[in-house]
Amino acid sequence: MQVTRRRDTPGELALREALHALGLRYRIDGALPDTRRRADIAFFALRVAVFVDGCFWHGCPEHGTWPKTNAAWWRTKIKGNIERDRDTDVRLRSAGWTVLRFWTHDDMNAAAKRVAEVVRIRKRKMGPSARPCRTSRDTSDQAQR
Ligand SMILES: [Zn+2]
Repeated sequence: MQVTRRRDTPGELALREALHALGLRYRIDGALPDTRRRADIAFFALRVAVFVDGCFWHGCPEHGTWPKTNAAWWRTKIKGNIERDRDTDVRLRSAGWTVLRFWTHDDMNAAAKRVAEVVRIRKRKMGPSARPCRTSRDTSDQAQR
């Protein structure tokens, strides 16, 4: 089943910009090893995956809406996305990843600080010589701007 992939949403862009301003380097839309899933933003060596979930597509409890036209189709679609998100979380965590999820309505500066904090903790835990996991190539990619 193909899930609608909406890249470079305003929330993602804002978070990337905020992370960049904090001096963090990450990969965008990276394929996550052993999970067959992708993260919006990933720190491969540290195994930190970040997602910015759209309020509509991922069923935000505050702003999610359920269209009246083709209601059943939309319900299936959005519920499918939510289930997939939870499944992605489970797969990633069992593969040793830390998963951070934000809504597009979140304050992205606060979100970036949270990511930076998690990254700092992971770095300390893994030591300065944290080895990239085997399929990652480079964690120093600059944000494409
Ligand atoms: Zn929302």
